[in-house]
Amino acid sequence: MEELLKLAKEHVKHCYCPYSDFHVVAVLETISGKKFVGVNVENSSYGLTVCAERVAIFKAISEGEKNFSKILIYSPDGTPFPCGACRQVMAEFCSEDFEVIVATENKILSYTLKKLLPFSFNLNR
Ligand SMILES: [Zn+2]
Repeated sequence: MEELLKLAKEHVKHCYCPYSDFHVVAVLETISGKKFVGVNVENSSYGLTVCAERVAIFKAISEGEKNFSKILIYSPDGTPFPCGACRQVMAEFCSEDFEVIVATENKILSYTLKKLLPFSFNLNR
């Protein structure tokens, strides 16, 4: 946990959020302990913005990783609960007991993916 939070804080400076000024960093950890960091990347055409969580997940998938244990989402600007789109992307690759940690400067909250997205869309159900 401490290591993930430290890594997240180190990457705040890489966030690209000139429109919202809401910095978000996600650190995704694989079951084998590898870590993938994502930051939010905004765009002047707002709909093209990609959240930090999806950046981290897509980086990991692109590197051949598919088994994830947890994600820490950190912001110094507010409580960075994952949006609905990111929750659904997590559901694509992660089990229901995947841990989602939401962190700010002074609080750390922990949830399972099942708690955050109880009825995710899934073609196999
Ligand atoms: Zn999102």
